[in-house]
Amino acid sequence: MLSDNCIFCKIIKGEIPSAKVYEDEKMFVFKDIEPKAKVHLLAIAKDHFKLFSDMDDNRSETVKYMLTKIPQIAKDNGCENGYRLIVNQGEDAGQTVFHLHFHILGGENLPW
Ligand code: 5GP
Ligand code: ZN
Repeated sequence: MLSDNCIFCKIIKGEIPSAKVYEDEKMFVFKDIEPKAKVHLLAIAKDHFKLFSDMDDNRSETVKYMLTKIPQIAKDNGCENGYRLIVNQGEDAGQTVFHLHFHILGGENLPW
């Protein structure tokens, strides 16, 4: 289920343009608008939930699906040498968009 007032749901619906690198029936992957590494992708589910901590059995199936797909998507998009996968959960992590997303960072040797 998508939300009417969420930037990432609007990106999925094509109401806000994005540089898409992958899409299927369950997930959508696009380039971060303010990249923090040479390659910086955002992987989102086609289901609006705000926080990693909003997980339930149904959502964890979707997340499992995404985590299974991410290695190949990362490899196909310039992260053949490795990447960092990040979830910012809540305020202390600096989460700014409240639609669960995985950051995929790579394309270069990353400082910790
Ligand atoms: P957070 O801090 O919530 O983990 O990360 C949100 C990310 O979304 C940030 O890295 C930010 O640059 C990215 N972002 C925010 N708005 C947009 C947008 O409209 N388009 C794209 N491609 N990325 C966005
Ligand atoms: Zn959303």
